[in-house]
Amino acid sequence: MPRWWLTLGIAALPFAAPQADALTLRGALVQGGMIVGKTEPGSRVEFDGRALAVHRDGRFVFGFGHDAGESAILDVTFANGGRKSRKLSIRQRQYRVQRIDGLPQRMVTPSARQLARIRSEGRKIASARATLSALPHFAGRFMWPVKGVVSGVYGSRRILNGKPRRPHLGVDIAVPAGTSVRAAAAGAVTLAEHDLYFTGGTVIIDHGLGISTVYSHLRELFVEAGDRVAQGDVVAAVGSTGRSTGPHLDWRINWFQERLDPVLVAGPMP
Ligand SMILES: [Zn+2]
Repeated sequence: MPRWWLTLGIAALPFAAPQADALTLRGALVQGGMIVGKTEPGSRVEFDGRALAVHRDGRFVFGFGHDAGESAILDVTFANGGRKSRKLSIRQRQYRVQRIDGLPQRMVTPSARQLARIRSEGRKIASARATLSALPHFAGRFMWPVKGVVSGVYGSRRILNGKPRRPHLGVDIAVPAGTSVRAAAAGAVTLAEHDLYFTGGTVIIDHGLGISTVYSHLRELFVEAGDRVAQGDVVAAVGSTGRSTGPHLDWRINWFQERLDPVLVAGPMP
């Protein structure tokens, strides 16, 4: 019997709810992984000292970024004052190196004027990703927005026109221009922009508690910021806008500003 049961004396009560002081975690304990937890409603949860929002049904979510360290601590304080602490071991990954040549030089080394535009667009994106809503869709299954050949994976270190650049933190799916892009889960559109410097036509959907999905290089958008979408709704059409060498969908999943691996969340491409 776990020690915390004895501490709280819950097991001695004949009609104690079986869920009392429960803490369950679902997801991959690995860099890029997303973890959905469930505990008693009204509990307080801290991930490495950072307070997490807990949904009214007791579910919460957090994720491990691309460079997450080897361990993290999850602390739960239950409504009755009981506490539980769990040390999480996070598997470290080896990322691939990907070379892409033939990009227009201004896409690899932008000018000062382009940098100003990139910064201002970056703030818009960061603000969409900072959305904290009570939508419950973070906890459901995520589906792939398009089906096709995965041409770029999460985490690959990129060498663009011979110059080392930041790692790629989404998956690229090579599909013909015009292919329907479907919402990976239900949610609310927090950003719908037709022409961002790097990502071109871009849609961000909030799924609740900081989990959002991003769809980039779109040719056409069928939603606007503020729209509600159901899982599977067609939100856009694939294109090759922004920094792109051909029609494809770049798909990403975020937990606030951390980028997670869509393959770990949605499973392998069906
Ligand atoms: Zn990409």
